[in-house]
Amino acid sequence: MAKHTPMMEQYLKIKAEHPDAFLFYRLGDFYEMFFDDAISAARELEITLTKRDPGQKEPIPMCGVPYHAAENYIQILIEKGYKVAVCEQVEDPKTSKGVVKREVVQLVTPGTVMESKMLNEGENNYIVSLSHFSDGSYVIVYNDLSTGENRIALITNGWNAVIHELYNQPVSEIVISSNLPEDLKEQLRDRLQVTLSYQDDVKFNAEFRMLSENLNDERLMKAFSRLLNYIQHTQKRSLDHLQQVEVIELDHYMSLDMYSKRNLELTETILKKGKHGSLLWVLDRSVTAMGSRMLKKWLERPLLNQKHIEERLEIVEGFYQGFMERDTLRDILKSVYDLERLAGRIAFGNVNARDLIQLKQSLQKIPELKSTLDQFPHEEIKAVADNLVYPEHLVDLLHSSLVDNPPISVKEGSLIKDGYNEQLDTYRYASRNGKNWIAQLEQKEKQETQIKSLKIGYNRVFGYYIEVTKANLHLLPEGRYERKQTLTNAERYITPELKEKEQLILDAEEQSVELEYNLFIEIREQIKEDIPRLQYLADMVSTIDVLQAFATVSEANNYKRPQFGKNHLTITSGRHPVIEQVMKEGSFVPNDISLNDNKNILLITGPNMSGKSTYMRQLALTVIMGQIGCFVPSDEAELIIFDQIFTRIGAADDLVSGQSTFMVEMLEANHAIANATDRSLILLDEIGRGTSTYDGMALAQSIVEYIHNNIQAKTLFSTHYHELTTLEESLSNLKNIHVRAEEHEGSVVFLHQIKDGAADESYGIHVAKLADLPEPLIERASSILEELESNDKPKPITGKIESGQLSFFVEEKKSAKREVIPESNEKVIDDLKELNLFEMTPLEAMNALYKLQKNVKK
Ligand code: ADP
Ligand code: MG
Repeated sequence: MAKHTPMMEQYLKIKAEHPDAFLFYRLGDFYEMFFDDAISAARELEITLTKRDPGQKEPIPMCGVPYHAAENYIQILIEKGYKVAVCEQVEDPKTSKGVVKREVVQLVTPGTVMESKMLNEGENNYIVSLSHFSDGSYVIVYNDLSTGENRIALITNGWNAVIHELYNQPVSEIVISSNLPEDLKEQLRDRLQVTLSYQDDVKFNAEFRMLSENLNDERLMKAFSRLLNYIQHTQKRSLDHLQQVEVIELDHYMSLDMYSKRNLELTETILKKGKHGSLLWVLDRSVTAMGSRMLKKWLERPLLNQKHIEERLEIVEGFYQGFMERDTLRDILKSVYDLERLAGRIAFGNVNARDLIQLKQSLQKIPELKSTLDQFPHEEIKAVADNLVYPEHLVDLLHSSLVDNPPISVKEGSLIKDGYNEQLDTYRYASRNGKNWIAQLEQKEKQETQIKSLKIGYNRVFGYYIEVTKANLHLLPEGRYERKQTLTNAERYITPELKEKEQLILDAEEQSVELEYNLFIEIREQIKEDIPRLQYLADMVSTIDVLQAFATVSEANNYKRPQFGKNHLTITSGRHPVIEQVMKEGSFVPNDISLNDNKNILLITGPNMSGKSTYMRQLALTVIMGQIGCFVPSDEAELIIFDQIFTRIGAADDLVSGQSTFMVEMLEANHAIANATDRSLILLDEIGRGTSTYDGMALAQSIVEYIHNNIQAKTLFSTHYHELTTLEESLSNLKNIHVRAEEHEGSVVFLHQIKDGAADESYGIHVAKLADLPEPLIERASSILEELESNDKPKPITGKIESGQLSFFVEEKKSAKREVIPESNEKVIDDLKELNLFEMTPLEAMNALYKLQKNVKK
């Protein structure tokens, strides 16, 4: 191995401590990268790859970025999911002997960025720690470093629940222990697409006590420490601004599995992954970024507690009715800055004076906000007003100390008002005085020399000087002036007394700039004491913002306040909140729905494109809107509080995965069946499509039967298996409904109206016609259909089923090699042919299959 220079030795030593990060190694005005780091950074950042010591036998690959532009490059790497270790020179190169001492001062990672331009203002950026315990439980801790928020959840129902919980959250990094099993790590990487980081050393230290006083479970403490240890390790500074951890009691919220989060397009659409077209897009009439972030959190955790839901609805109703006051409220909120992130940055120590002015302006809005809220006649709203406490002392502090328009830099003075600090005033007096003296000197010199154009100027290199044009030089008296600089047309001079004053002025200025910086830090530290108060205020303001957003959208889109009952769900003229927005006004066809304990399964038939999926999603979205405390798109709604929503989309409608196999579809169905209760809502949209007709239908049927007999969850089940409509005869709680369509002059007209009973025809071919398939092709399809319809159609089997038969999930054989069938197996094939699948229950089919396989195997 080649011997390295002492500097390279130092580099390698530091790099070894940060194997999974790009090491930005400070060298003069550049951050340099070497070896493999250099090769990948050059590729990722599109910068030139060069070599260090090109003369050597083994030159070292190298590339670099100028230090002043580093932030942009770091941003690019972070957005791609990488980490960057920033390594600075920590002693003055001029005075150091040997290699300058260097240290990593910060580890920038996707979950720990603080710079506002790397953050999306309407969205949280979570770093999560995930810990697993020998009792099979998991603990997830969420932290948003930019807001200081800490939340923790204990998961006791297995690994899948972990994935469902984390899915669709704005998580960019997960900190785990390196002994989490490989396949689980892989799932985190693949399904959640996050950066994984490791923290094996988990120490609880005294600094964490304040943050975790409310935790009384060893597992929670350990998981929380893991995260805090990691943050300390990467940020290398205090954790002052972090808030006390809040325990998320998962059973206080409706649980939405990841399929529902995705399929219902709550916060982003499936295809474009954007907010546009999602429920969040429709509902987000909040005017602050804090409000948007909070709404998103609410959408992912609808409430279960009726009292809490009604509290929100009551306030929304108040805001709805008082639309004038609501307008005022919105105007006030618009001038409130992002208090939550401001508070985070104050504590973190990266605010400037402008940020503090924003803080002041925001806080100054509080009295007005309170008095506006007080104008509503509603008790609940008055209570909110009472809880808003105006931190007058902070406003006073900021008002008396900071000028109204401070510069961006806090190190160049001009931040602090006159009169705030005596010492500062003295310096300023000295400096102003000196400047006056100089102005007077100019007058005096002009008079004495009789040179009208004589002037006194200042530059950084020569300080103050007296400038005389060449034409006037002969007027200067001898001896008094010392020449300092010669220009084309003029000479510049100094005098001893000018030099003396200059020193006074510069000293005073330097001292005042330094003092201003120190005062600024003092003010910032003082505000730090009030961070919890600011965070509480931010929380209140966000809540008010979301609730006014609900009122605003409810008024704009004509939503009605829902009632909550125990057993009946009845919606009159319900609409799909998103589709009605993207359609021409008034063209969405409203529909009713009714579910109760006696009729808890609706089997929906109807042609393709008639509106089955829309009708099902409409119900789920309405339920969610109600449980987050918003009015709902209907004329009247009596809802039930659901504990969970499960959504399965048949392969044909599964837009995202597309290739979604039957197996996946069944796994998803299994997830619903395993977890649903009689308080849950299940949507099964054309399940069973991922396979050929018969077994797909058999499974669809047995799933419905299972839910009917064993779960009794409220269920909407759409199907293209028309045959299943006869289940109404055998399953007393199942009711057929269909989407009406009419045939008109050979084509189908969709009415999008839900009616009782089963649909009577398949309109698939007509839809093809609508899609402009060639005429001969349509004709051919029609005649095939006629032929098929004249043959025997499969019929559902209406016998009793035994529970526990849903074990379709036999392990797939690893290698399915194609084999020549030996003669001895011909019997099996004959037997197979003989089987009458339509006379068998799925269980009998399984048994038969088992026997057949056994025959072949031996
Ligand atoms: P299906 O699931 O039966 O194939 P969809 O629910 O996907 O049908 O609906 C197809 C299209 O029909 C929707 O994209 C929408 O444009 C329209 N549609 C559905 N329901 C309604 C309705 N109630 N009123 C108006 N248009 C509707
Ligand atoms: Mg559909």
